[in-house]
Amino acid sequence: MSVGEDRDAEERRAELERRLAAVRERIAQACAAAGRDPDRVELMAVTKTVPAADVAVLLDLGLTLFGENRAQEAGAKVAEVAALRPDARPRWHFIGGLQRNKARTVVGWAARVESVDSVRLADALDRAAAHALDEGRRTGPLPVLLQYSVDGDAARGGVPADGLMALADHVAGCAGLRLEGLMAVAPLGGDAGVDPEAAFTDIERAADRLRSAHPEASVLSAGMSGDLEVAIRHASGVVRVGTALVGYRPLASL
Ligand SMILES: *Cc1c(COP(=O)(O)O)cnc(C)c1O
Repeated sequence: MSVGEDRDAEERRAELERRLAAVRERIAQACAAAGRDPDRVELMAVTKTVPAADVAVLLDLGLTLFGENRAQEAGAKVAEVAALRPDARPRWHFIGGLQRNKARTVVGWAARVESVDSVRLADALDRAAAHALDEGRRTGPLPVLLQYSVDGDAARGGVPADGLMALADHVAGCAGLRLEGLMAVAPLGGDAGVDPEAAFTDIERAADRLRSAHPEASVLSAGMSGDLEVAIRHASGVVRVGTALVGYRPLASL
């Protein structure tokens, strides 16, 4: 590594450290305001589009939970990070749209898939997980969350409200899967006609409905860089933060 590259790496480390401190502070403030225990809100670093070297630094800074949304990119990154930090134990959650033919690769590295939004995808993951179990590549069922569509807008993925309970019953009956809760991507605040308060009220209600039918499905993963405070006020237990943590990266460095 040249002296210049060394300095770039040092600057990047300092930037990530600064950003992480700021995000942690926001979470702490939001928990204080909502009267919640900060230990009950986990921070997931969403590392899509950032290089493995950044993930290694975030591990050094104490983060252990990472989210990826593209199967191909993630598989390679998981291996790279393992090579960079062989003693670390990152947990990788898959949080993106998933084609059924990629289920097997994702099951190979994901500690949880948070984006199950159809019976067909659930069945593909169930089969892949059973297979991995048979081959000794997994030691238990694959934990999953159901991705809930707040306003039925298909573009962000998710199962609409009227299909949620049927999907939950189906997933609960899949031997290869373990239903752990709900994930949602709220519409971006600032979009015309979007009321984050209403969106997160709806999300919290859906999570409650799911939990009353399936008590083991107690996790709520909701809230991102722009809306983590509202999400924490509405009972989220996992905030998935990308931009605020890693910043915008110039295309050339991807
Ligand atoms: C990218 C992404 C995030 C993080 O979004 P930011 O606004 O960058 O914090 C969270 N969840 C999902 C599903 C994502 O794709």
